[in-house]
Amino acid sequence: MALAKFEVAEDDCIGCSLCPERAPENMEMIPGGSVARVTLQPANKDQEQACYEAAEYCPIGALEVCSE
Ligand code: SF4
Repeated sequence: MALAKFEVAEDDCIGCSLCPERAPENMEMIPGGSVARVTLQPANKDQEQACYEAAEYCPIGALEVCSE
């Protein structure tokens, strides 16, 4: 089964830094910016799970699953 893919709704992201903390292999804050981005789509189940948790904990739902 294919791994899920994720994206940040940049207009909604409030730059709380939570998602890179939860999924550091897949997310980062844009340097000098206040928005997160996906640097690498999950390449294994552990990374996928970390991204799902990051999405779950995002306070405003700006980290979205774009395909599963
Ligand atoms: S957890 Fe949500 S609001 Fe916080 S940086 Fe990530 S996408 Fe943005």
